[in-house]
Amino acid sequence: MSTPADAAQAAAPLLEVRDLEVHHGQLRALDGISLRVFPGEVYAIIGANGAGKSTLLRTIAGLHHPTTGTVVFDGQDVTGLRPDLRARQGIVMVPEGRRLFGSLSVEENLQVGATYARPGPWTIERVYELFDWMPERRAQRAAQLSGGEQQAVAIGRALVANPRVLLLDELSLGLAPVVVQRIYGMLPQILGTGVTVLLVEQDVSQAMRVASRLHCLLEGRSTLEGRPASVTPDQVEAAYFGLAGVAPSAPAGEGGEP
Ligand code: ATP
Repeated sequence: MSTPADAAQAAAPLLEVRDLEVHHGQLRALDGISLRVFPGEVYAIIGANGAGKSTLLRTIAGLHHPTTGTVVFDGQDVTGLRPDLRARQGIVMVPEGRRLFGSLSVEENLQVGATYARPGPWTIERVYELFDWMPERRAQRAAQLSGGEQQAVAIGRALVANPRVLLLDELSLGLAPVVVQRIYGMLPQILGTGVTVLLVEQDVSQAMRVASRLHCLLEGRSTLEGRPASVTPDQVEAAYFGLAGVAPSAPAGEGGEP
């Protein structure tokens, strides 16, 4: 059965990463990573601790500079563009660990996100509709919120910038499973406003539930790319842990069916 993500793949990719290599000092954190994210899909990067997932997301957002390779957004090479200018074009990230301003209120944190917002459907009021507990707590300091509530504010702060592609780094980190479910339960409403999602997730089951495509990293290299329905648990396990004897299902960066 064809899905909206299938239809989208007939179009040009919204975001493309070509042969990316990123170093932290002497350490090669990413080695030859390529991927294509199509409009309307949820593309998930999985991998163990230190695999390079956050480095990849942060490089797409402009927070790390690649040694080689390119980041192309909507057909334009943005590799040399500053992070704030990428945000203006619609590349907006929810960073690992939320990174809210703890001494500012919920609403002030949302206002920070709205400062350089693109025009679009997302406003602070719309975020309050998405998270209906938030209006009552709008004056509360962010530091006083629970982890799940802080994650919601961090998502709201990104949404009010009106992203075209939303980069989500480890939403589930440190949260109870029920809270994670609630947070991910918001994805359809976010996608419904035309936002494309590229997420990093250590929890493979969670990624498999929400993603149209998966891409596994291991020590900075691609080990698997494919649709959740067309990769076996053994393939995912082998790609995640680097087990010998199980071939990856597809070369990374092909963008289509493995
Ligand atoms: P985690 O799930 O633990 O966040 P990850 O897959 O996101 O892991 P990265 O955070 O991208 O992995 O790290 C990839 C490698 O780069 C690791 O070996 C990490 O120690 C190293 N690294 C990441 N950031 C830096 C930095 N700012 N300076 C030096 N090394 C770094």
